Amino acid sequence: MTAPDSRPPSVLTIAGSDSGGGAGIQADLKTFAAHGVHGLSAIAALTAQHTRGVTAVHVPDVDFLRAQIDACFEDFRVVAVKLGMLANAEVINVVAEALEQHAPVHVVLDPVMVATSGARLLEAAALDALQTRLLPRCSVLTPNLPEAELLLGHSIGDRDAMRQACTELLSTGTTAVLLKGGHLPGDGDVVDLLADADGIHSIRHPRLQLDAHGTGCTLASAVAANLALGKALPAACRDAADYVHRALLGGYRPGHGEVVVLDHF
Ligand code: PLP
Repeated sequence: MTAPDSRPPSVLTIAGSDSGGGAGIQADLKTFAAHGVHGLSAIAALTAQHTRGVTAVHVPDVDFLRAQIDACFEDFRVVAVKLGMLANAEVINVVAEALEQHAPVHVVLDPVMVATSGARLLEAAALDALQTRLLPRCSVLTPNLPEAELLLGHSIGDRDAMRQACTELLSTGTTAVLLKGGHLPGDGDVVDLLADADGIHSIRHPRLQLDAHGTGCTLASAVAANLALGKALPAACRDAADYVHRALLGGYRPGHGEVVVLDHF
């Protein structure tokens, strides 16, 4: 009989670094810490960034990325992986190979493509690799509406179109989709849709009129942390959306720009 594994659950983020501390790896690790799970990181890209935008991007050698991922799986009990900024197709292919080899139970994919400031965080040519290599390995895909529109190749203009988009995104191979509704026009509540084989649930929050940074990274990381803690998918997503809402309520402006970063607690 093998001894029970005494190691606490770890969550690994494979994503981009944000020197401004609001999004990416930095937001992910703060979110993991706030959820009481051990956080690991494999840095797929580095951004020079502040509250007014991205000033430079550097993508390290993919062999080094693979070494970071392997080092994490060799020692820690990695229960969930969160994927964020992956920069290009070469990075996506290396991440897909690593996931095939290590087969983590949960993979949460935030399909980061363009920053709120307009900077491109994924090369346009990499969309195909994301769809064919990562979506079939994904437990939860967390696109916002512009990202879902790029993945599906058509616009999503209202709540009915969001429901239809969820069904279409499920056919790409991901087990579940958390489609974020914050970009729908109007000043009513923000409604996110969680879709899986059991149906579609709505997650509703009052809209906050804030220009915030790092909400997508934080939401996906909170979902991954909650799954690692053993929560079922609907509770993992609902609690993650509540966490982002609370973090926004405590948000603050650390730089000269108008952008608010989240208060992780
Ligand atoms: N920088 C990095 C490294 C990111 O991973 C992301 C988003 O996921 C962003 C910037 C963009 O964040 P936002 O669109 O919230 O400004």
